[in-house]
Amino acid sequence: MNKEEELKIIEDMQAVAQQMKLDDIEENPDSEFDIFECQCCGEEKPLAGSVVYEGIRVCNDCVVLAEAGFALGKIKSIKDLMKNMEDKKLEAQCLFIKQDQIEHNN
Ligand SMILES: [Zn+2]
Repeated sequence: MNKEEELKIIEDMQAVAQQMKLDDIEENPDSEFDIFECQCCGEEKPLAGSVVYEGIRVCNDCVVLAEAGFALGKIKSIKDLMKNMEDKKLEAQCLFIKQDQIEHNN
């Protein structure tokens, strides 16, 4: 699979996830404003467009990552995605700590 095909899959998944969110809002307008803590990215996100995988509720943004990850064969389960996200979170934290140190050294 080349980059262009991968990009196409991600774009398709974004469109699918966006549609799921719109459907949720149409069905239950409150879901746009009902907030939950996504168990994958750890951020507070609206219930609209969220999906439960293996008993784990993930936000609409993570649905895109999950579906694209499954389609591209990069992850096998939602736990793989959570693990990937954790690494990313760690990376973000490391950057933040480094930045903090630079500021304090000045
Ligand atoms: Zn999320």
